[in-house]
Amino acid sequence: MTFKELYVIDPILKALEAKEYSEPTPIQLESIPVLLQGKDILGSAQTGTGKTAAFAIPILQNLHFEKVNDPSNRNIKALVLAPTRELALQIHDNFKEYGRNIRLRTTVIYGGVPQSKQVRILQNGVDILVATPGRLLDLIQQRKLTLAHVTYLVLDEADRMLDMGFVKDVRKIVAMVKKERQTMFFSATMPQAIVTLSNEMLHKPVRIMVTPEEEMIDKIKQSIYYVGKKKKIDLLVDLLKKKDLKSVLVFSRTKHGANKIVKLLDQLDIASAAIHGNKSQSARQKALNSFKQKKTRVLVATDIAARGIDVDELSHVINYDLPEVPETYIHRIGRTGRAGLGGVAISFCSHDEIDLLKDIQKHIQMQITVKTDSVYAIEPSALPIESKSKSNQRNSNQSNKSKNNKSYSRKRARNKKVTPKNYSKYDNKNRSRNR
Ligand code: AMP
Repeated sequence: MTFKELYVIDPILKALEAKEYSEPTPIQLESIPVLLQGKDILGSAQTGTGKTAAFAIPILQNLHFEKVNDPSNRNIKALVLAPTRELALQIHDNFKEYGRNIRLRTTVIYGGVPQSKQVRILQNGVDILVATPGRLLDLIQQRKLTLAHVTYLVLDEADRMLDMGFVKDVRKIVAMVKKERQTMFFSATMPQAIVTLSNEMLHKPVRIMVTPEEEMIDKIKQSIYYVGKKKKIDLLVDLLKKKDLKSVLVFSRTKHGANKIVKLLDQLDIASAAIHGNKSQSARQKALNSFKQKKTRVLVATDIAARGIDVDELSHVINYDLPEVPETYIHRIGRTGRAGLGGVAISFCSHDEIDLLKDIQKHIQMQITVKTDSVYAIEPSALPIESKSKSNQRNSNQSNKSKNNKSYSRKRARNKKVTPKNYSKYDNKNRSRNR
């Protein structure tokens, strides 16, 4: 099936050709026809699946026809809400690229930078607005923009909005958009709180589920090193001696930890940069661009700052610290498996993280290969008795599992919901750390 067969119009087809998109991804195949018919969708999908084009193409196409009929209309007609500035910028870039041959104005607004330039662009008239919730509400309250004419509403990475404590803001914003609209709601995970929010926002949605996790997990080579907490940096440096680690995204649990890693790598002349919530927007963008252009080999990020990072040919993800929520593990390693490409994900596990590893393995329903090919790695036999016995037990369980069994279990794992209790625990932790 081609984009043409999905009735995508010529100017957009040309833009997609320029991006070398030869055929639609599964989520695009499912979403584009539904959205061109004007229906709402509820999509379970994460970044890396081609989700942005899945909603951007129909919005551009529909607005193109509306604009042809009413060229004088310069109000905001489509609003895309995204949790982070990085993701908002990325979505905006995609809209510009896919819409390069049609005359629609797109802009992006986010906090952490002066508002004057954003306001000027808005005042000149914008068709499509990509925004983070905080800055959007701020400008609405200052009467710098109105959502009264919005008829296309996208909520992207809704679960992340929840994690970041944006749900109240989102509800306020949605209440300002008229009811006669088309709503597109995307979330990588569907905990109960997200289901409730989607029920409030959507009208008879078509449910679209892409299941990249299983395919993605199969394509990514995953391994784990047991390592002493204080030896993690040595292990990282040891691994970075390998030439095939060309472009490495390192996940640190805290901002402070990320800075420390960069400082130590710097002392060893390993080009690296950190991105996290304490860095200014321009510093984050500079670090990201330098990483994308392969000038910086290592980018150290916290989860929230890394959300939405789309780097072509990212060879390795390293979990310097294991995530507290197992689903985050999938989001993280998914940075390397973009649009069906394989990748390598290496995780470090210190003694105090063994339970987190256990949760991750349970969630992905597979055992991650343990590696010991570094002097800094701890042999599993040297682990504390309790975790050793659990780990052995898991290994033997695993070896008994057939491949079919494994994918069945993974399907179950995908359907398994994170309980609101888990979420609020995560939410609070995130907020208190202000990542
Ligand atoms: P997204 O999930 O929207 O962040 O997209 C992930 C990556 O897939 C981005 O680098 C897109 O440029 C790329 N992509 C999206 N759709 C296609 C397609 N149909 N063919 C090839 N690459 C695509």
